[in-house]
Order: sequence, then structure tokens, then C-alpha cells
Amino acid sequence: MGYRRMNRRDFIGKAASGLFSTGVALPFLKAGPANQEQSQKIIYRTLGRTKLRIPVVSFGVMNSDSPDLIKEALDKGINHLDTAFLYLRGNSERVIGEVLEKAGNREKVYVATKMRFARDTKKGIFSLKGSGREPAATEENLLKQLEVSLGRLRTDYVDILYLHSCYSPQMATYEPLMNALVKVKKQGKARFIGVSTHRDEPNVIRAAVDAGVYDVVLTAYNFVQENREEVKKAIQYAAGKGVGVVAMKTQGGRRLQEEGKIEVNHEAALKWVLNDENVCTTIPGMTTFDQLYLNLKVMSNWALSEGEKRELQLASMLKGILYCQNCRACVPTCSHRVEIPTLMRAYMYAQGYGNLIQARITAGALPAETGLNVCQDCSSCTAACRNGINIDSRLKSLLTEKLYRG
Ligand code: SF4
Ligand code: SF4
Repeated sequence: MGYRRMNRRDFIGKAASGLFSTGVALPFLKAGPANQEQSQKIIYRTLGRTKLRIPVVSFGVMNSDSPDLIKEALDKGINHLDTAFLYLRGNSERVIGEVLEKAGNREKVYVATKMRFARDTKKGIFSLKGSGREPAATEENLLKQLEVSLGRLRTDYVDILYLHSCYSPQMATYEPLMNALVKVKKQGKARFIGVSTHRDEPNVIRAAVDAGVYDVVLTAYNFVQENREEVKKAIQYAAGKGVGVVAMKTQGGRRLQEEGKIEVNHEAALKWVLNDENVCTTIPGMTTFDQLYLNLKVMSNWALSEGEKRELQLASMLKGILYCQNCRACVPTCSHRVEIPTLMRAYMYAQGYGNLIQARITAGALPAETGLNVCQDCSSCTAACRNGINIDSRLKSLLTEKLYRG
């Protein structure tokens, strides 16, 4: 392949020689271009028992395959990159690998990735059968995915390896995969392991913590979540047990309203999450330098002004328009039991984040009998959202993009 993988021995040697500075509140990588203040303050928190020191705003590399943007984030001191096996069909991991190899700074950057498996939607557990693009939930498939990810990332280890998208406590503690993650950690291919969740977050977080093997939980957490108070308590529980907490979906759907009237104040939404000190870091997706600089600015001061509080309050009153709560109340209102919440997530990727590739991957992973292709042949949509989301309109938008073809 023409590249040298950073292995565990290299990593431990460099760590022992003091290349890991902790508690330093200034960027430790090469300084970036002079179009931003060079003295940008980076605030670090400790990721639970992992003891990793991570900036409160990290880089969610879901929507970007720009080496320049990643390099600039690293230069500014953002030392934690969050990706997944599926993001941008592997290009997210590939570009991270290229950037880190070129910069020669793998050991200074914390890389997190996620392994995804087919779900059995009826039983609420991972599936041993496999479905669409998602492999069966076996140790063999986890190891295969991980080897592919390590190859793309040009490294022999990741810092955090997550079981991706657990939507029930049973999934978070699904033994074939949980045991495989423990094994991978023992082998040194993942320094730490965790689970990610976008649904039933409080119960998934508690189950993951009580399993006693996970070091980190990655959870959806934002100001429009209906269950945000329960999520907050579960986060507190995790932090109290030494499990590091990473927050995602911090924008609550961003600019998802069909009418285009209100766009969530990104800065305020991020500040809302950072005000919870039990959250170590957030992973907003970034696609532009402006977004990066805005996130860096938030790190300097996350006190919410009165105006920002009012804006968030107003936006949260429009929660139905903006954000799918993944409550699944709509599923029985479709006679075909189409996986509407997953399609709403695909819509968020397409319209909210402008990431058609991720939208296509998300919609395309659904089995044919509950996917968007069913809607294509449906004469009239009967599905109803208890929060006021116009499901029909969003499905039509996805059909226009032909996302069902994967
Ligand atoms: S368009 Fe038809 S199949 Fe699709 S969600 Fe609506 S009712 Fe279900
Ligand atoms: S009922 Fe509405 S909020 Fe709940 S999952 Fe369905 S679309 Fe999302």
C-alpha cells in the first residue's frame, strides 16, 4: 500500500516519551493560516476513565472529505476526529488516514470510528442475518470491518471503537458484539470501546454503563429532545461511573423546516450542550472553514446570552418541524410498516446537512420490504407524525432524489 501504519508499540513509545501533553490549553499542532487569531483558546475536558484530554468541540467527520479542512482543524488544536465505517462510503476514514499520514502526527490525534450491523427491528437487537449494506452481527464481521477501517485510516489502532447506532439496551449489551469489542481492545486494535445511540438514549446509556465494559458513550443530546431531562440524568449517571460522554446531534436538526422560516442558532445550540459539564466533548459535523471557526469561537465562551436563550426557546417550540424524535409513533400509521424514522434521518442528512451520500447510505441500508422503495408504489401517504413533521413531504423529497436506489 505504500504507507506505514502507526502501531501500538510506536504509540506507547511516543506516549511514554512525553509527546502527549495533557492540560495544555493551546493548540499543540502546527499553527494554521493567519486568517484567524493564532491565540485561539482550546478548552479540554477529560473523557472519563480513558483520561484522554479532548477539546469540548471535536470534529465530526461525517459530511466532509476535505483534507484541508481536517488539517486546519488539527492545526487549530482539535485533536479528536469522529468518523464511522459507513461515512461517505469510507471516504471519511480514507481522508483522515491520508491527512494523518502526511502530517506524521497520528499519535497526537484521537481517532474514533464506528462499526455498524444489521438490526432486527422487531426484536430490538442486532441481527445475525445481515440486511442491505449492513453485515450480520458476528465477531467475524466486526473484525472484517475493523480491518478495512484500519487500512483506510492507515493505522494499527483506533482510540475509540463504537458499536454504532444501538437503539435499545439489548443492542448495547448484545453479547456477540460486546465480547468482540472487548477482545479487540485486549488485542490493542482499539484503545477504548463504546456504544453510540440516537434512540431511547437514557436506557441505552444506562445499560452500556452497567455492562461494565464500555469506556465511552456517544449520544444524541440537544435542546429540542423531548427526553432531554432523562438524557441529562443518564449522562450524569455515566459520568459518575467514570464512563466518558460524547454528544452528537447537538443542533437538533439544524435547518430542517420545510417552510424555511427559522434556522437554529448553531452557536447557541452548541453552547446549550457545553453547559452540561458531564459532557466531555461534542462532534458537530463541519463542511466549511466558517463552521470550523465558529465552533472554535464557541469554545472560548459558552455562556448563553438572554437573546440566545430566547432563540432556543422559540426553536424548541417548533420542535416538530425541526427534529424527528425517533419515537416511532408514526410506524403503525403506515400499513406497510415502513421504517419512517430512519427515512427522516436520511432526510436530515440530505436537507439539514447537505450530505446526499450519507442520506443514500442510510436509506439504502433498509430492507426492501420496509424501505423507501415501498413508498414509491404507494398511492397516498397515511403516515402521521405526532410532532407535526410532514412525513409525506419529506418522503417525496427523498423519492425525488432517488435515494432508495442506494
Ligand atoms: S408513502 Fe405509503 S408506504 Fe410510505 S410511509 Fe406513507 S403510507 Fe407508508
Ligand atoms: S412520529 Fe414523528 S418524531 Fe416520532 S419517529 Fe415518527 S416522524 Fe419522528
